[in-house]
Amino acid sequence: MRIAFLGLGAIGEPMATHLTRDPFRLTVWNRTSAKANDFASRFGARPASTPADAVHDADIAFTCLPSSAEVEALLHGKDGMLESLRDGAVLVDCTSGDPATSRSIAAELATRGVGFIDAPVSGGTIAAKSGTLTVMWGGDIATFERVRTAIEAFGKKIVHAGPIGAGDALKAVNNALLAVHILSTAEGLVVLVKAGVDPRIALDVINASSGRSNTSENLIPQRVLTRAFPRTFRLALLDKDIGIAATLAAELGVSAPVIALSAERFREARGKLGEEADHVEAVKMIEEENGVEITPFSP
Ligand code: NDP
Repeated sequence: MRIAFLGLGAIGEPMATHLTRDPFRLTVWNRTSAKANDFASRFGARPASTPADAVHDADIAFTCLPSSAEVEALLHGKDGMLESLRDGAVLVDCTSGDPATSRSIAAELATRGVGFIDAPVSGGTIAAKSGTLTVMWGGDIATFERVRTAIEAFGKKIVHAGPIGAGDALKAVNNALLAVHILSTAEGLVVLVKAGVDPRIALDVINASSGRSNTSENLIPQRVLTRAFPRTFRLALLDKDIGIAATLAAELGVSAPVIALSAERFREARGKLGEEADHVEAVKMIEEENGVEITPFSP
């Protein structure tokens, strides 16, 4: 099975490593070509010089790019994928994209006999490395069956979300919840620090109670209390995701003020902290606004 993988970023690279073994024959392309060349020599794959070159003989092409805009650009740009994808191939877009763009890409590809599914992932870089990502996909079952084996190489929980764009919608809402949890947990802990409660004690109680979340159980203890703030998922990408969720809510006439306000706060955090900051660093904005750090009272 000939596979092309385009976009060897923080999550794309570990996903692609699972496609380097039989029965797959992998070709990789990355905007910064040194990354594709390095990947190819470390894991055994063909490095492609252009998106068109990457997909010309592929049965399945995977994209894992920042947003749907970059996927469109890779389709239509110079040496793009569109003219090169074979009749009968399937484009699996693992980007956390936006539903409307995915629908329009799918419609365009269909006129050329190329299938499409949106298949964003969750679980972060750790699950990508271990091949245990959750994959939420949108599209038709017959198309999915043609790519199932390849998705199973990096996915563990693989869920049909609905028609094309449903995977993107589900991913955007999941990440909107993550954004809300980061902001609300940080605000709550700043209140408690100012009230004289050690955040370690606060989290001990919250994590045994109904206020807990992945943010309180893992992200804050491992990344904020320690001040480690590792860069695994860019804040700019979470800003994009919650923006997609807020737009979707507005398009569907849903009143969602908590999501809308959190989207505004993440846009602000992105402006302050920049394109390379990690998503959990949004906590720093709340700390700075209030003049306190969420750190244990004693070492
Ligand atoms: P990164 O920012 O680490 O990597 C982005 C990738 O896209 C790189 O390969 C980059 O190439 C490429 N790229 C950026 N801009 C362009 C462009 N204009 N044209 C062509 N290629 C481009 O992102 P992630 O790997 O973290 O995320 C990829 C997708 O997966 C996003 O949609 C994200 O929301 C989603 N995601 C990420 C998770 C994570 O934990 N990181 C978890 C779940 C989903 P180059 O190397 O040249 O910069």
